[in-house]
Amino acid sequence: EQRKLQRLKFSPTQTLDGTPIGLYANIELPEDAAAALAAGVVGIGLFRTEFLYMRNRYDLPGEEEQFEAYRQVVEAMKGLPVTIRTIDVGADKPLDLRDGDTEVAVNPALGLRAIRWSLSEPQMFLTQLRAILRASAFGPVKLLIPMLAHAQEIAQTLDLLKQAKRQCDDAGMVYSSELKLGAMIEIPAAALAVQLFLKHFDFLSIGTNDLIQYTLAIDRSDSAVAHLYDPLHPAVLHLIAHTLRQAKQAGVSVSVCGEMAGDPVFTRLLLGMGLTEFSTHLSQLLVVKQEILRAHLPTLEMSVKEVLAAYEPAELQAALHRLAQV
Ligand code: PEP
Ligand code: MG
Repeated sequence: EQRKLQRLKFSPTQTLDGTPIGLYANIELPEDAAAALAAGVVGIGLFRTEFLYMRNRYDLPGEEEQFEAYRQVVEAMKGLPVTIRTIDVGADKPLDLRDGDTEVAVNPALGLRAIRWSLSEPQMFLTQLRAILRASAFGPVKLLIPMLAHAQEIAQTLDLLKQAKRQCDDAGMVYSSELKLGAMIEIPAAALAVQLFLKHFDFLSIGTNDLIQYTLAIDRSDSAVAHLYDPLHPAVLHLIAHTLRQAKQAGVSVSVCGEMAGDPVFTRLLLGMGLTEFSTHLSQLLVVKQEILRAHLPTLEMSVKEVLAAYEPAELQAALHRLAQV
């Protein structure tokens, strides 16, 4: 079975009806890029930069150190796009600062996390933006912002990006004018108000891990409620389907980079909803690809309509069973 999977590695990723599907890798450290390229991905769909900050260190990496790390990934990918997500600390990923004076939040997942933290530390955010901008001179870079929900956060982010560009210009640092800007859709408010995002961003990426957590009010790291963490809850499915539909209508590309994209159980469902870009952990790449190669999109689209119309568990199970058979 493993050998059969390995043979899939360099064949084109497309459905039975010939629709090309993009398979991207999720990585956490610059060293992971070489393995991603060797695995046959068409790019990095999610580089979680917080791991650079969290590696047993007590200070934050400066601009040069970050720039070197980002450039290393961009160069390793040899012209394929690299999606670099700005730091997502807080909640399950606390910053390891020895002299951190931050009080422990009662509800960290609802607190100062990801872009909220970055906007509260504009100097550190600008440092990271400049480092990413400079890396874009070495290959195609897509800048991805986590955990946005509010129009005002979008405006502040755009403004800081403009500032970072100006700072690079002033310092004689080059960056690409082709840099694409994207937003994570991982808060239910963002999925429901996706129109707001379609106006301001070149691409979207759905973070199902957090989207499920926040839609169902289930802490993703709390084992006491893990049995209620359900990717197939109709509310979750409708938020994903809504985001994909609206983005498609607006001509904005959208990927899924949460764990759902790497679980072959959900591949047909996501394809049938219209997803054409999957970003997964490398270990999941080929099992997902195998599902894609077996899928016939027009048939799946019909079946997924039934899944989305089902609200009772028995009805939903039956619809999912049919989807698995077609
Ligand atoms: C997600 O929330 O689905 C996601 C990809 O981001 P992270 O798991 O890093 O929060
Ligand atoms: Mg997330």
